[in-house]
Amino acid sequence: MSIPAGRAIPEPTIIEGDFVPTREVPFSSALDELIAAIRKGDAPNLGRFCGYCCTPLRKRDETCPTCGTSEREAAPREKISRSLAEIYTRKRKREGRWVHGAAWSGLVLGTLISVLLIMTLPGWTKILAVVFMIVGSYFIATYMANVLVQNRAYRSGLEFFARGWSVYLHTREQGRLEDD
Ligand SMILES: [Zn+2]
Repeated sequence: MSIPAGRAIPEPTIIEGDFVPTREVPFSSALDELIAAIRKGDAPNLGRFCGYCCTPLRKRDETCPTCGTSEREAAPREKISRSLAEIYTRKRKREGRWVHGAAWSGLVLGTLISVLLIMTLPGWTKILAVVFMIVGSYFIATYMANVLVQNRAYRSGLEFFARGWSVYLHTREQGRLEDD
């Protein structure tokens, strides 16, 4: 699947660091959590979902909290679209790779610093290098994974979703969705 010509990929709306769902990029954290639970076998793929973006709807929701679509505009569905669930899952994996990559870089950096310390510290103080290798590397890795990369992973994930969603929507509008 690819983006059709003349159709731009929508930009995720991010206000003060927080993503705001729109009809153009209707990413739902509730749906994201639910899909992860279904994958683990902790929840059934059955309920009441927005007819446009598959966000789980509560009884009192007259319009979708994610995309604002009313039940009259699009009848609610009972199952999550499998093609859409696939996009959510791939987005999660992608973010996971960012975080793992950052943690590994942190460990490598920590080890390099330790080696440098072993070479430069005199006598018994070389023991400090070993302590650093164990404790310091851990902190550098955690810091890089949790603080440095999080924001980047967050944005990259949303951009990935925006792209996946527009391909999904286009395919759906054309009636070419096989496993909906
Ligand atoms: Zn919706």
